[in-house]
Amino acid sequence: MTLSIHGLPVARGIAIGRAVMVVSSRLDVAHYFIKPEEVESEVDRVRAARDAVTGELHRLQASVAQMGPNDAPHELAALLDVHLMLLQDEALTGGVKHWISERLYNAEWALTTQLEIIARQFDEMEDEYLRERKADLEQVVERMLHQMKGTAAVLAPTPPRPKHKPGEELDPLAADAFDAPLVLIAHDLAPADMLQFKKSVFAGFVTDVGGRTSHTAIVARSMDIPAVVGARSVSQLVRQDDWVIIDGDSGVVIIDPSPIILAEYGFKQRQGDLERDRLSRLRHKPAVTLDGQRVDLLANIEMPEDTLGAVKAGAVGVGLFRSEFLFMGREQQHQTRLPNEEEQYQAYKRAVEGMQGMPVTIRTIDVGADKPLDGKLREDSHLNPALGLRAIRWSLADPSMFLTQLRAILRASAHGEIHLLIPMLAHASEIRQTLSLLDFARAELDNRGAVYGVVKVGAMIEIPAAALTLRTFLKHFDFLSIGTNDLIQYTLAIDRADESVAHLYDPTHPAVLRLVADTIAECRRLGKSVSVCGEMAGDVGFTRLLLGLGLRSFSMHPSQILAVKQEVLRADVSKLEAWAQEVVNSDDPAAMLALKA
Ligand code: PEP
Ligand code: MG
Repeated sequence: MTLSIHGLPVARGIAIGRAVMVVSSRLDVAHYFIKPEEVESEVDRVRAARDAVTGELHRLQASVAQMGPNDAPHELAALLDVHLMLLQDEALTGGVKHWISERLYNAEWALTTQLEIIARQFDEMEDEYLRERKADLEQVVERMLHQMKGTAAVLAPTPPRPKHKPGEELDPLAADAFDAPLVLIAHDLAPADMLQFKKSVFAGFVTDVGGRTSHTAIVARSMDIPAVVGARSVSQLVRQDDWVIIDGDSGVVIIDPSPIILAEYGFKQRQGDLERDRLSRLRHKPAVTLDGQRVDLLANIEMPEDTLGAVKAGAVGVGLFRSEFLFMGREQQHQTRLPNEEEQYQAYKRAVEGMQGMPVTIRTIDVGADKPLDGKLREDSHLNPALGLRAIRWSLADPSMFLTQLRAILRASAHGEIHLLIPMLAHASEIRQTLSLLDFARAELDNRGAVYGVVKVGAMIEIPAAALTLRTFLKHFDFLSIGTNDLIQYTLAIDRADESVAHLYDPTHPAVLRLVADTIAECRRLGKSVSVCGEMAGDVGFTRLLLGLGLRSFSMHPSQILAVKQEVLRADVSKLEAWAQEVVNSDDPAAMLALKA
């Protein structure tokens, strides 16, 4: 039966493919693809875990047998029998083997995927006794996962491509490989998980939770695949291998579509491809308005390798390198928790070299809130992490970590133009501490005789307090960059990651526009450069407004650059300035923007 669900569109386009479920249950496991040559050893890991748990259960059985009926009730022995039976069941072991060998899932992912499939079968059983066996199965799987800890393989980038066409029946346990596109369905994905998937070939992506500018959505956008977040119960309704349509323009997710719906969306998909082809012709055209104003279109990146896409899209530099992604999700792959100075230096150098002489703006680490370092939220996350130890506050609380990063960035500046950007500053005291740590990092490098270049230092304006004390910021910094994602969150007191208040997350709120407009105007008045690097910069609905307010530097995901360039090429700034002021001063800016669209 066809079902459709509405969520928040975060990355444009249509994706049609088979569902790959990432189960995020209380069993919190890593999800990654192994290399084909690792299938055997991965299956062996599962077998070894199963044998170890079998041994464990046999030992328990033996000790139960020695106890009297008062110490060990009869049910306990029966329960151990059930656990042993479930452990040996072909539905579990055969299924797990299938996901590993056909889809190259790592063992833990394969195990939790198969657990989910069998658990749903248990849920549908009439017999209450049998239904309750689901909890036993979960316990058995948990024991196996526990055994597997510390024996993980290395990550591989690419899953196999399924081979079936829409409408065909598919037996998930069949041995042959498939060849249809894959779409990712999850309750939620930590940004660190998203980074793993970024290296793979998913055609689209949906989550139950998340707001339009949550970090998961931002990474999804950088993958340049259609994506919908905040689709509430999608992960409950979709099953592994279901056909799913993701409409990243309207936020609709269609499960098990009928042939007519499939044909309609297939048509839309082709239209989108044509539009993209048309836009790609603008790649080498300079971004200049009709009245001759040059506009810098820069790229937001998460990893040094993203510079490839940035150059390809015609970016004239990197306006925001979210360096925290170098620090995230490392526990699966590395022994050490944080990258050391040399590792960071190499990464920043790769980014600089990747941009082939164009400037790279590296933002210092911004972890905390919805970007936990290890993919897990802190235990005290109920305390309101978006207002807690995040970004520069985190860095200043751990000066040794911060100095390591500053030294690495400074050293990389010997290889090309680097701008250093500091996130989430609000207090003059934070500015002073940051700048003196930067001086200290330079002194450390001098003592070592290390080479480094000149870096411009800028601050993000993403807290209303910063936007309201621009004079202090402009005194100390060479440039400012407006982080509208957080500026909106903190101005309107709306959690950007919470889909239940997403309808109130409003970039056109007059208070937000006032802060953005004043920041641009003040920088221009003092001749300091200013850019916008929040999601607003890549939204074509705001291009003309921002141009009219005087912005000449926009930083966005490479996938958005060509569409924004098209808007720039069509704009006549001299005719937009008065209108932009009217929008900002209006009670209903959204309506005025819609009129001009
Ligand atoms: C912002 O807040 O607008 C921004 C660009 O930073 P981030 O999205 O990484 O918080
Ligand atoms: Mg921010």
